[in-house]
Order: sequence, then structure tokens, then C-alpha cells
Amino acid sequence: MAALPPSMRKHPVEGRVLQEWILPAKGYCAFTLRSQQVLRVVDLEGKQVTDIVVFNSSDHGEEMSLASSLLMNRQRELRKGAVVYSQICTPMMTITGYSNEVSFAYGSMCSEELNRLRYGIAGTTNCRDNLAQALTSWGFNRRDIPNAFSPFMRVDLNENEELEIMEPASVAGDFYDMRAEMDLLVGISNCPQELNACNGYRAKPSGVIIYETE
Ligand SMILES: [Zn+2]
Repeated sequence: MAALPPSMRKHPVEGRVLQEWILPAKGYCAFTLRSQQVLRVVDLEGKQVTDIVVFNSSDHGEEMSLASSLLMNRQRELRKGAVVYSQICTPMMTITGYSNEVSFAYGSMCSEELNRLRYGIAGTTNCRDNLAQALTSWGFNRRDIPNAFSPFMRVDLNENEELEIMEPASVAGDFYDMRAEMDLLVGISNCPQELNACNGYRAKPSGVIIYETE
């Protein structure tokens, strides 16, 4: 296993690390996260987004709903203390901390179709297929993936009042922490998008840390 880069621990973990690994550029993973364990994603080089989806580990039909979460939290962008809810409004995760608060909670992840229709390029590596691959052994296919929560992703209105994906403001070592409020099945895509500014036009590795605070 590759040595962990120093940026993985730029911000110390306040707790006991249970597992940590590098997600290669354009890579993906899926795993179970126990209630009260904390998931940290680390932007190892800067300007790299991860797309995260979660499901109730004992009932995969219960999945995160960012639409419900924005309404329940009365926020346009989820911030520290905000809770990510399922479609039946059960708390699934709490955002417990970060070194860069920017995130995107509207969830339309990059896909083969979006890349083809928006940029005219077919056959791209993309988050939807990544997450379907990551979750395939749990019986998921690419249509079963809910909208994803994306730490560090920056989307805003440009000078023409158009919604535009902008370069992240995250720098090497920035982290984003989410605590599980139930036993979860988690899928992560290390966003492979290089056709827009989402990852600063270059996909890079990310770090994943699972830790507990007690
Ligand atoms: Zn993506």
C-alpha cells in the first residue's frame, strides 16, 4: 500500500483512526460505516471534489435525499451542524466539521449522458458509473444512484446569471467530516470530471479516513 502523503494529516483527526486509504484519481469505493463513526474525505492536492452517496445499511431502499435535507436544515448550502436526511426524513449523517465549507448539495453528479449532452464527448469516466461500479456487489445499478453530496464542489451564478461549475477553493490537506447517525452503506466517487472546472480540469487522488471520537 502506498505511503500516505503529508497532506492527509495536515489537519489532525480528533479521535481514533479505524481505517484510512488513498482513493486514486478517478477511483471509487464503497463500505459500511457504523453509527457514530466519522467519515473524513481529504483533498490531498487541492481542487478535488468527491461525490458521496449513503444508504441505510439494513434497508438499501432508504437513501439520502438532498432535497429533503436542504428543506429540513433551512439552508441553501449545508454547513457545520447540518443533518443529511433520507427521503423519509430519518437523520443519516451530521456534518461535524471541515477546513473548507464549500460544498454542493444539489447532487446532479457527472454521468456519461451529461458529459455527452453538455460537452459532446461520449464514453467518459464519470461519477454515476463509478458509484454504480462501487456498489455493484450490493446489487445496485447506475439507475439506482441518488443525487450525491459533494464536498468542495463550487457552483455559483456567473456574471451572466448562469449556473456555472467553478474551480474549487480547496487547497491541499482540506478535509470534510460527516458523522453517521445510523449504520450506513457509503459509496464515494473521486470525481473524474476534466471537461469543466469542477476539479480544476485535472482529476487527482483523495484521502478517505474513518474514525471514532470515543
Ligand atoms: Zn463527477
